[in-house]
Amino acid sequence: MRNTVEILGVKIDKVTMKEALEKLQSFLQEDRVHTIYTPNSEIMMAAQRDEYLKGILNSADLLVADGAGVVLASRILKVNLPEKVAGFDLVKNSFSMESGKKIKYFLFGSEPGTAEAAKEKILNSYENVEIAGCHHGYFSPEDENKIIDMINRSGADILLVALGAPKQEKWIYENKDKLKVKVCIGVGGSLDVLSGKVKLAPEFFRR
Ligand code: UDP
Repeated sequence: MRNTVEILGVKIDKVTMKEALEKLQSFLQEDRVHTIYTPNSEIMMAAQRDEYLKGILNSADLLVADGAGVVLASRILKVNLPEKVAGFDLVKNSFSMESGKKIKYFLFGSEPGTAEAAKEKILNSYENVEIAGCHHGYFSPEDENKIIDMINRSGADILLVALGAPKQEKWIYENKDKLKVKVCIGVGGSLDVLSGKVKLAPEFFRR
């Protein structure tokens, strides 16, 4: 059962980072596609103008607050989210999850070459991770089925979709029934950071 709070009509899970990781682990045990989105204040506002996006966010299996703004809003509304669960941190922490075997990720999105560079950095830092495949995020509609096929043939457990918000949320929603992965996560600019192309702001500013 999900324990959610409603902020501007969007149901956000009342979870800590540790609980979000436990949920992710449990999704890997189930034989169906799960979706995780990590909206920040900007996407929460975009969802006010875009009912389709709001519906997509509300259809997630796990929706966590990326950013202090959403946590602050929860305090003002007295529904108190326990803490910020940033998408980038969730993904990074998931690389250290213990599951008895290597978890397979597919890195999809960002400019050509970025996912491959992120793959190399991830493999150098985390021993429980396998990168089953990579594909950049600048594709034409005709390429889409080929990419989905590539993802499915890779045998990936977790698909990281880095197309920027809200493009990635819409892509996941519209294609999830064709995917054979266990979990899809919309990760924004995370591959840019993991590849070393972009530096994350210091924790002080992020807070
Ligand atoms: N991107 C992509 N395809 C597109 C548009 C964007 O792969 O058609 C990638 C872009 O290269 C970048 C990421 O999506 O790596 C968006 O990052 P940004 O930080 O702008 O996203 P946000 O975190 O704001 O959602």
